[in-house]
Amino acid sequence: MQTIAERLDSTREGIEKATALAHRPPNSVKLLAVSKTKPVSEINLAYEAGQRLFGENYIQEGVEKVQALKHLSDIEWHMIGPIQSNKTKLVAENFHWVQSVDREKIARRLSEQRPNDLPPLNVCIQVNIDDEPSKSGVSPADVAPLVTLIERLPNLVLRGLMAIPKAHANEDEQKKSLELLKQLFNECSATRTEFDTLSVGMSGDMQAAILQGSTMVRVGTAIFGARI
Ligand SMILES: *Cc1c(COP(=O)(O)O)cnc(C)c1O
Repeated sequence: MQTIAERLDSTREGIEKATALAHRPPNSVKLLAVSKTKPVSEINLAYEAGQRLFGENYIQEGVEKVQALKHLSDIEWHMIGPIQSNKTKLVAENFHWVQSVDREKIARRLSEQRPNDLPPLNVCIQVNIDDEPSKSGVSPADVAPLVTLIERLPNLVLRGLMAIPKAHANEDEQKKSLELLKQLFNECSATRTEFDTLSVGMSGDMQAAILQGSTMVRVGTAIFGARI
């Protein structure tokens, strides 16, 4: 069996290869290690292997890990799961990034509840790129109004877009959703210096996402193994 350090290495290699294939500059794609359901001991192993960006899906579980690993002060914690409005305070107090902002109410509460002694919270808007009823995220048409709103909130910095594209049966359709996402991203980033993050690509579609312009891949299974 491969160790977490070995799996991290091959994931990084995969990112480098795809980045080169896309003729993009080296280091233009960040790796977020998705540690949901995995114990603190495994996050520690990934940390020792040089990983610094970690993503969590479940608020309670995520907060427990942030607290348990407080001494590793250079970890950057990303919330990437659905957020209930009664949990925004916990998120605002514990995370550096929230990638799953999908409505006005959540954005407003995160800004209001961000503690004054912390820097502004980095956020991405989650886009439901294939308009799937089962998935969270705003529809592509609703991205612009939410961008405008978030920009007015004092304790948030709008960093970009996040999406979980549908697993299309054929590659052309897959490409089409990613192209739409990239187009949305380009429109928003053109006039905004801090809007630099297109968070897309997971263990199974990392390469396709990097070819379509992803700047951050969120990888769980390929690093930590299957979740039970
Ligand atoms: C679980 C999850 C991932 C990681 O998925 P893998 O297929 O395990 O790499 C990425 N993004 C989100 C939003 C997730 O919920």
